[in-house]
Amino acid sequence: MGWSWRLGRMAGIDIYVHPTFLILLAWVGLAHYMEHGDLAEAVGGMAFILALFGIIILHELGHAMAARRYGIRTRDITLLPIGGVARLERMPEVPSQELLVALAGPAVNVVIAVSIFVGLQVIGLSVRPADSALRAGGGFLQQMFWVNVMLVVFNLVPAFPMDGGRVFRALLAMRTDYVRATQTAVAVGQGIAILFGLLGLISNPFLIFIALFVWLAGAQEAGLVTARSALAGIPVSRVMIHEFHSLAPDEPLSRAVADVLAGFQQDFPVVEDGRVVGILTRNDLIAALGEQRLESPVGEVMQREFVMAAPREMLQTVFERLQNGHSRTIPVLADGRMVGLLTADNVAEILLIQQALRNAHQPGLFGGFPGPTEEQSDPGARPRGIPVP
Ligand SMILES: [Zn+2]
Repeated sequence: MGWSWRLGRMAGIDIYVHPTFLILLAWVGLAHYMEHGDLAEAVGGMAFILALFGIIILHELGHAMAARRYGIRTRDITLLPIGGVARLERMPEVPSQELLVALAGPAVNVVIAVSIFVGLQVIGLSVRPADSALRAGGGFLQQMFWVNVMLVVFNLVPAFPMDGGRVFRALLAMRTDYVRATQTAVAVGQGIAILFGLLGLISNPFLIFIALFVWLAGAQEAGLVTARSALAGIPVSRVMIHEFHSLAPDEPLSRAVADVLAGFQQDFPVVEDGRVVGILTRNDLIAALGEQRLESPVGEVMQREFVMAAPREMLQTVFERLQNGHSRTIPVLADGRMVGLLTADNVAEILLIQQALRNAHQPGLFGGFPGPTEEQSDPGARPRGIPVP
């Protein structure tokens, strides 16, 4: 996540903190000081927030360690004022694995809460009710016990993308197919988001924030899962464009303009000595024309960094590359030679057709819809990762 400071590294995973977290910390310290006029109270309030976020890091590490068991790496863990996010490079689509990865975070809080409970018993104390424990001066361990209990309860609300939503989806996916399980889990989560939003209006505005987050993240997940499933099992070679124009780096931009105006193409591969050396996107072309550079060579304007695909790769993995990358056009290379072109419009059309056929209960264009598969993707090709709260 850009704009975050690196705190350190735990279990081989970089831990970042968002700068706004420091604002929260300062605000809590100041609020305590204003209320009690006592520096010790201010330090105590800040220690509480720091301990809370330490616990959240442990929660995220729980997800990360469970994912590691299935060979899934975690890019990083970031602390935001609203909580923590572990960016897993992917989510296991095998329901029992997703279930364990989702449960591992709250399980850490259960372990901490039980340890505190037992620890208090050992020294002859008992856990006090939440309302008295959480008041100022309630005792650090008492407070940490209740914080962990609340984290378990809150995270297990079955609202996608919270842990409870993933647990719910995984349980559903054990009985029905993955796409339908996701749609049901997202619908239930969005119903809960509406309740959160209404509750937020009359009580804590923070809930409105959570409601929005749940709503948007749920819609995004549903869209992604549906698209991935429609594209599963289709090799790039079946749908790539064979007829396209390419440009040479020393040709003038006016050549590309003629092709764009003819409606032939929007982005162009730039080829030199049979090798693809760049992509000229329509946006870059328009920007260059705005600077009166009609006769500039293509090589000056093209993108030199771009993503590629192989003809045998599956569309569902290339789809994510299209989504994360800057270019809407991907050259397809076999043995270093360009054999085709895959564009975002291209893939969008396949999606429309596949989904229309699916709604009509027809087999897909390319023979049926395989169920969830373990992805065989190139692990280096995914720049973004799946955020897990
Ligand atoms: Zn979690």
